[in-house]
Amino acid sequence: MADQAVQVAFDPTGKTFNQRLDACLSDAAKKYSITIRKDTGRTAEWQQKLHIAHMFLYNKYATTTPANTEPGKRTIEWSHLSDPKTLWNTVNFTEILRTKTGAAPGKVGNAWAKGSEPDRAKTEARAAQLLQSEGIGNNGQAMVSSGLKPCGEPCSCGAGRSKHLDGLAADLNSNDLTQLETKLKQAKAGTVDDYLKKFGLHRPLLNHPSSPEKWHVEALP
Ligand SMILES: [Zn+2]
Ligand SMILES: [Zn+2]
Repeated sequence: MADQAVQVAFDPTGKTFNQRLDACLSDAAKKYSITIRKDTGRTAEWQQKLHIAHMFLYNKYATTTPANTEPGKRTIEWSHLSDPKTLWNTVNFTEILRTKTGAAPGKVGNAWAKGSEPDRAKTEARAAQLLQSEGIGNNGQAMVSSGLKPCGEPCSCGAGRSKHLDGLAADLNSNDLTQLETKLKQAKAGTVDDYLKKFGLHRPLLNHPSSPEKWHVEALP
C-alpha cells in the first residue's frame, strides 16, 4: 500500500509562515533530494546596519527617502551622516563611518577628535564592502529594510521594519532554488512558483521594478 502520509497534500490554511516554509523545505528534501538553505540569525542591529549602508549608498525604495536627503538625490545626506551631533539609534557610527586612513572615527565630547573626522569616499567604500560581505543580494545592490519600527537615526526614513525579523519572510539560497527549478522541470512538475504555491508561499519581489529578489519568500495572503 502507498504511504498515505505522503499522498495527503499540505493545506496551508491557518498555518504560519514558518510552518509553511518547513513543509515546503522538507518536501523538497524528500521528493527532490535538495536541501534548500535559508538565512538565519538576523538581528535588528544587523538589519539596521545594512539598511543604513543601503540608504546611504543607493536607496532602492520607490517612494521612501531618509529624513535628511542629499541635495538632488534620494540617499542619506553626507553632512547629516557625518555630523558628530547625530545620535545613531541601535547601530554605532563606528560600524559604518570611516576616516581618511580607513579607521573608525573617534569623538571628543560632541565633536570629532582632531584627525579622526569621517571621510566620505572611505565611508562609501566601507558601506559597499559591508553590503557585499554580508551577502546582500544582487551583489550588494538589493533593497534592505530597516531593523527598527520606526526606522531611526541617522536614516529615519519611515519605512517598515523587515518582515524577516517578525518571522514573516525568508531568503532562500539562490543556487539551491536554481537546482530545485531544474529538478521540477525534469519531473514535469511546473515552476518554482507553482511549487511554492502548494505550500501557501510566494515571491512578492520577483518582479520588483528596481530591486527584484528571486530568493525572498513570504506567505500568500
Ligand atoms: Zn530608514
Ligand atoms: Zn528577503
